[in-house]
Amino acid sequence: MELPLRTLDVKCIECGAHFEAMTRKRMGMIMVNCPHCKASQQYMVKPPKKGGEDNEPVGKFVTQMPVRILGEVVSKDGRYVIEKRAKIGMQYGFICPKCNKQIAIKTDQVGEQGATCKECGAKVFFQAYDPVEEERLRQEQERLRQEREAQQLKREEELRRQEREAQQLKREEELRRQQEELRRQQEEQRRQQEEQRRQQEEQRRQQEEVRPYKYVDDIPDVEPDDRPSQETVVAPPRRRLTNGELQWGGGLLSSPQKVRLYDGTTIVGRKDAYTPSDISFIDPEMSRRSVQIDAEPRNGVMSFTLTVLKDLNPVLVNGRRVPQGMSVLLRSGMKIKLGQTTLTFKLV
Ligand SMILES: [Zn+2]
Ligand SMILES: [Zn+2]
Repeated sequence: MELPLRTLDVKCIECGAHFEAMTRKRMGMIMVNCPHCKASQQYMVKPPKKGGEDNEPVGKFVTQMPVRILGEVVSKDGRYVIEKRAKIGMQYGFICPKCNKQIAIKTDQVGEQGATCKECGAKVFFQAYDPVEEERLRQEQERLRQEREAQQLKREEELRRQEREAQQLKREEELRRQQEELRRQQEEQRRQQEEQRRQQEEQRRQQEEVRPYKYVDDIPDVEPDDRPSQETVVAPPRRRLTNGELQWGGGLLSSPQKVRLYDGTTIVGRKDAYTPSDISFIDPEMSRRSVQIDAEPRNGVMSFTLTVLKDLNPVLVNGRRVPQGMSVLLRSGMKIKLGQTTLTFKLV
């Protein structure tokens, strides 16, 4: 006779949902699958109350010892193992591979452990783990990974920053170099302009020198004065002699020294090895190149013109100071005073 259907009121041990499971078993283990999450689980069916066996109505009965089915037992390397891992602190059940009886286990430690079938003595091994600890480890590893990533990013950013800085420095250096080059070119240009200016100035000065003389022509006549002085004569250049003559020195017991002037320009000044004059004197108060005397024919007559080249040491003609750059047309007997030396110009 078929037993009546009984209803098992189940709360899923995986997802917590309530559902009803039907059985005709009077007692023992039944296996049910949660209609919501499909998790397999086993329940103990309690026998109906005594005396009410036949007319026990189909109804709810109390669940007891909900057990997770851990997984399939397989034979591996000569022993029975379950490859699915168990969580610690839980009850599991599985089927003995030898006698097909239910084996119930309780996990309270992590790592490998064995369960022995009470019926046939078969030993089944499985691994248990602590999900909380694993989650903690996982989170820790995730945290470390993120830290490493952040550090890596930071290092890369630092490298990029250094690279940027290096490039910036390079650009600045290049700019500085270009500016330096520009400055150098400008300096060179300035120097060339300066040189050009100097050359133009020199040219101008030379042109000025050959410009017609500005004459000082109100030179007074004075009495002859043959004061002696120290003197040296350098031989004048070999040109055509004129009738002009410079005399100096002489006194009561000696006749004056004299030198004939040549045509063209004759420079008179202090004796100096580096700026020699045509006629020079040892006279510290005379300029190195003090005056020049130009002898040139004018209207068929030789004309003599004295021009003051330097008047730091004053040049006096017949006692009158002639400024630098000015000229005097020499007449016979004129006294030319250069420093301490007095020369007399004579026509002979
Ligand atoms: Zn479920
Ligand atoms: Zn067994």
